[in-house]
Amino acid sequence: MTQKVGTGPYRQLIGGEFVDGGKGSYAIVNPATEEVVAEAPEASVDDVEAAAAAAKAAQPGWAALKPEKRAELLKKVSDRIFAEMADFVPLIISETGATLNVGSRMQAPACASRFAYYAEAGRQPLDLPLAPSPMAETPLAPGGLISSVVNRAPVGVVAAITSYNFPITNMAGKLAPALAAGNAVVVKPAPQDPLSCLEVLRICHEVGIPEGVVNIVTGSGAEAGQALVASPNVDMVSFTGSSGVGVAIQTEAAKTMKRTLMELGGKGACLVLADAEIPKVITGLASVWGFHSGQICTAPTRAIVHRSRYDEVVAGLTAAAGRMPVGDPLDKTTVVGPIITDTHRARVEAMLERSVAEGAEVLVGGERPDIDKGFYVAPTLLAVDNANHGAREEFFAPVIVVIPFDDDEEGIAIANDSPYGLYDYVYSADVNKAYQVAKRLEAGNVGLNTAQRNMEAPFGGFKMSGIGRDGGIFGLHAYTEMQTIVWT
Ligand code: NAD
Repeated sequence: MTQKVGTGPYRQLIGGEFVDGGKGSYAIVNPATEEVVAEAPEASVDDVEAAAAAAKAAQPGWAALKPEKRAELLKKVSDRIFAEMADFVPLIISETGATLNVGSRMQAPACASRFAYYAEAGRQPLDLPLAPSPMAETPLAPGGLISSVVNRAPVGVVAAITSYNFPITNMAGKLAPALAAGNAVVVKPAPQDPLSCLEVLRICHEVGIPEGVVNIVTGSGAEAGQALVASPNVDMVSFTGSSGVGVAIQTEAAKTMKRTLMELGGKGACLVLADAEIPKVITGLASVWGFHSGQICTAPTRAIVHRSRYDEVVAGLTAAAGRMPVGDPLDKTTVVGPIITDTHRARVEAMLERSVAEGAEVLVGGERPDIDKGFYVAPTLLAVDNANHGAREEFFAPVIVVIPFDDDEEGIAIANDSPYGLYDYVYSADVNKAYQVAKRLEAGNVGLNTAQRNMEAPFGGFKMSGIGRDGGIFGLHAYTEMQTIVWT
């Protein structure tokens, strides 16, 4: 057994009470050591219904509070997460397999910062006044100068269903803005790593967020999420996860016309034009290749490279792989830690096998690293054509593919020939040209000569990568309904 991390035993928070899972508990496994970190509650459908009903009952009172009061509580949550950082980091590393670098610099601090951001954003008036507008007389009403205001009302009860890769960051990106806008929330974290999410909800309770306003249910399978989506007490589903599950949720949610925010999968194209600065390309691709073992939706996983620069890019990436040690996430020199589970590794290995059977050439990696314990995948580079399975589906692992093109039109066509459209990249020494190319890419976000993101900007996908936008102030608005009020 590894050293104890976290404050367990863990219980769900439902209607202000800490309760055991109605169906017992299940083990959370450390992806690096394969040892049990702790038990997580296994929710029953009754637990989910109780959480949704508690949220429904608590939401009007929360919405009626002054925004400043809600902001004060959210800021306290942020302060407490920062104060408990030394406990969060080992827990998050144990349950996700994140490296020291990713665990300490991105996971928990990003979660705390999101609470601070939306505490501040929630203080600003959400109403949108419109300029008075002259309206002609109609059989319905006399003409006149009509004034209007758009009141941004909370949606009601939000089900926040999240993916495993950045558990508390993803959760905070939903929970904080939803609460700031006056919604009540039921959180359903990913089955693989819900422990730090349970800790954040404990803090929400301890700082005094009223009972029922925040709730969390956990479970090892799809049942708890399905029950939440079907619940008549839920008004909105905010989902981060795979496109396949997104489709299932969207289908079910449509039956009761629930609002949905869908942050789904990606297969980012990185278009390398003939005049690109190759060192920048390699830095951009390599930094995301191994980052969190490739378990990041925004990763440029399809390098689409002008044929005149193809050999340089392949050589640069091959050299970069040599600077990406794979292994123990607690070792400071490790760049690539494990991926989340044995099941996920089996899926990745099956995808690699299928890609090779369809003609992919393995340029780097491809073999399981020789490490006794843990679910490791070596950084892998495949030469493919865009019809290959490896070019079309997400590995969600440290695997990228490289595809040559001969002219820019062909390159743009290959980039757009994907079911996904989350985050693309263009590399060119001519920024204006890169900008013109970016506008033709079917992706919700495009990086020009950089893998850096702007966290204030709207974030979301085209096509199968999702519906709606979060990020910055757009994330706050996503949890509101626009109500127009007019008067003469
Ligand atoms: P997943 O789709 O397997 O699971 C996500 C969540 O959905 C989990 O909490 C799971 O329990 C729940 N779920 C599963 N079936 C359900 C159902 N029928 N009804 C309701 N809930 C259900 O995704 P994952 O493996 O945790 O995460 C990886 C995926 O997430 C990748 O596709 C990745 O690209 C995507 N992702 C997208 C973004 C983004 O912002 N666009 C961010 C991170 C991850």
